Amino acid sequence: MKVNCPTCQSEVEWSAESPFRPFCSKRCQLIDLGEWAAEEKRIPAQATQEELERALPDIEEIEAMLAQQGDSFFRDH
Ligand SMILES: [Zn+2]
Repeated sequence: MKVNCPTCQSEVEWSAESPFRPFCSKRCQLIDLGEWAAEEKRIPAQATQEELERALPDIEEIEAMLAQQGDSFFRDH
């Protein structure tokens, strides 16, 4: 079974091998979670991977921000 990544629309296999499903990657998961906090850096829904690379400032920054907020819904494990 396959689903489309909500962030970049890539096909994602819905299995244990895709830990970030329905997102294709941790990057896309973070983009989705971080969008609300980065209005000015809004990512087009149909953005390509290259566009995401350019539009997304810094994954570490978003991770740090989420950590600071103590979001319990976002976990690595
Ligand atoms: Zn994706």
